[in-house]
Amino acid sequence: MKHFKFRYPGDPTQPAVLMSRREFLVEHPRSPIVVTDLDTGEREEFPIPKDMIVCDVCNDEIEDEVLVIAGSMGYCPKCVAEFKKEYLTPVGVG
Ligand SMILES: [Zn+2]
Repeated sequence: MKHFKFRYPGDPTQPAVLMSRREFLVEHPRSPIVVTDLDTGEREEFPIPKDMIVCDVCNDEIEDEVLVIAGSMGYCPKCVAEFKKEYLTPVGVG
């Protein structure tokens, strides 16, 4: 696991962590998507595969490493290289 500081111009600095699929799935267990019908109040669950990680930017399935920024957004290596690389500063190896 590698820790970074993510600093986008004009935004506050956010913590970022590059982790393997395994590490990610331990820290962010997959839970079903729950949709509530506004008319009836009925809740319906849409289970997602337990080991599925999807990039929050391009929606590609992530099979290798995932960069998590601010504890919520997950980026695939391709999107990191494309949009984020220049804003990341390593803060040591964890
Ligand atoms: Zn992506």
